[in-house]
Amino acid sequence: MNDNFKSGFVAIVGRPNTGKSTLVNSLMKQKVVITSDKPQTTRHKIRCILNRPDAQIIFIDTPGLHKPHDLLGERLNEKVRSALKEVDVVIFVVDASQVIGRGDAFIAKELNKLNAPVILVLNKTDKINHADLSAQEEIARDLGQFKKIISISALNGDNLNVLIDETVELLPKGPKYYPDDTITDQPEKVIIAEFVREKVLELTREEVPYSVVVKVESISKRTDKDIVDVEAYIFVEKDSQKGIIIGKGGKMLKEIGQRAREEIENLLGSQIFLSLWVKVKKKWRSREDIIREMGY
Ligand code: GDP
Ligand code: MG
Repeated sequence: MNDNFKSGFVAIVGRPNTGKSTLVNSLMKQKVVITSDKPQTTRHKIRCILNRPDAQIIFIDTPGLHKPHDLLGERLNEKVRSALKEVDVVIFVVDASQVIGRGDAFIAKELNKLNAPVILVLNKTDKINHADLSAQEEIARDLGQFKKIISISALNGDNLNVLIDETVELLPKGPKYYPDDTITDQPEKVIIAEFVREKVLELTREEVPYSVVVKVESISKRTDKDIVDVEAYIFVEKDSQKGIIIGKGGKMLKEIGQRAREEIENLLGSQIFLSLWVKVKKKWRSREDIIREMGY
């Protein structure tokens, strides 16, 4: 390996919904983590490994930092803080199409206490015009001390090459931490459960998305055919939510299953037979045992 090879851990942090997970997938050029227009979509701290000839960057997608309302919310904030302790570079994502406010300022202040250099990223530039972007850049600049300020669109990929180059610039020299074919540190079961949960987020509203947790029970390859059987449970907090997820005559559950199956097939590169069950676990978001069981 050459002596100038660089590597390191890069945490992607910011308020909920600023586009952190969308950014991670765009950087990886493939879908690894789930995204949605609902806050609290990301609940795990997921490492995604990007290889270049001169560097290995380990991006850490994190839950959005927010004011917690329950035990789950507190755990998510703790995850972000623990991610920040182990990183070489921080990418702080702000939504340029929204008012830059106290939530962003609060995070910026925490980040400036760290030793790691911070790159400020203004995302969603596709949603605003040039003049507004310049004004937003001025406001964002005053949030704290940043090594670089880069405006991007995670959705259509604008300026991501610049972001990657600047990130590598700030990485220390180091070894490859992961083999070339590894894209994430998470087991397949976790990624698949996330894909199912994303479809629930896509298709349901109000309190249902926040009340759902998915657990993959088993993944097994058939011996006679090139098919992988996946069994998963969708847990909700109330009977009424169970009814919504199943839908009239099972229609909703079928739709969730179909959409998830396509994405799981893309991920695993083989045909999938997906079985989904819905179960009620009362008030799981405030229950220590379940939160731990689900890996949150
Ligand atoms: P996170 O909570 O920060 O991880 O945000 P997500 O990645 O889940 O994205 C939140 C919402 O913003 C989703 O609806 C995304 O499609 C949308 N989004 C993310 N990046 C962009 C972008 O660059 N442009 C636009 N127009 N939408 C974006
Ligand atoms: Mg996210």
